Amino acid sequence: MARKKLIAGNWKMNKTAVEAEVLAKELVAAVGKITERDIMIAPTFTSLAAVSAVIKGTSIKLGAQNMSSEDSGAFTGEISADMLIGAGVSHVILGHSERRSIFKEDDTFINKKVKKALAKNLVPVLCVGETLAEREAGKADSIVGDQVVKGYAGIPEADAKRVVVAYEPVWAIGTGKTATPADADAMHKHIRDVLAKTYSSTFAEAAIILYGGSMNDKNADELLNMPNIDGGLIGGAALKAESFARIINYTKK
Ligand code: PEP
Repeated sequence: MARKKLIAGNWKMNKTAVEAEVLAKELVAAVGKITERDIMIAPTFTSLAAVSAVIKGTSIKLGAQNMSSEDSGAFTGEISADMLIGAGVSHVILGHSERRSIFKEDDTFINKKVKKALAKNLVPVLCVGETLAEREAGKADSIVGDQVVKGYAGIPEADAKRVVVAYEPVWAIGTGKTATPADADAMHKHIRDVLAKTYSSTFAEAAIILYGGSMNDKNADELLNMPNIDGGLIGGAALKAESFARIINYTKK
């Protein structure tokens, strides 16, 4: 079964609403009619409404960078799934390595958010990845495998089908260092094997697994042509319409 590529932009804590609107307009002009590949952009919460208005009616989907595991109430500073849906969001990035390391989000908490996103019909983009020390200690496969198992814990196969995984080696995020296409593909294959054991081989074969970590307009062709890489989660290179559009229009070999 051919898996459709998803090219997703994580704008992180960059751009005011006015700046985000400008970038969204540039993207609509450049790639807003592309349907051969799925496209998602995740601006900050304060830019969601403005970006949503700009991309309405185009093929670009709107994502959020985080979400509360709770529905409403005394959770100062948090944003709920319903609030995101109201702002036009369809995808939500969960468990990004910056959330895990800076904000101490653990696998149990992330799993709760994944379940909440699924219950609300949002597409969770579950981020996993090992640190440099873990890779050098030969633990990358077990660390990532464990994050995948815990991220999907208690989720029935019918719902789990809607989860997108993003493999993002922590040492490659925002550093300019990229996993080699072969190493990235090997980890994606490992994630697929873990999903096959957790669910079924048919499930694993259909799972969308993105690569993230200094993907840019120069290395995207090589990475995106690997058999187990189904797209990218892109930070820095998603902040300029030209480079993000180039990645979306990568050359299929
Ligand atoms: C990310 O934010 O998920 C990411 C991969 O960032 P960058 O592309 O800048 O490494």
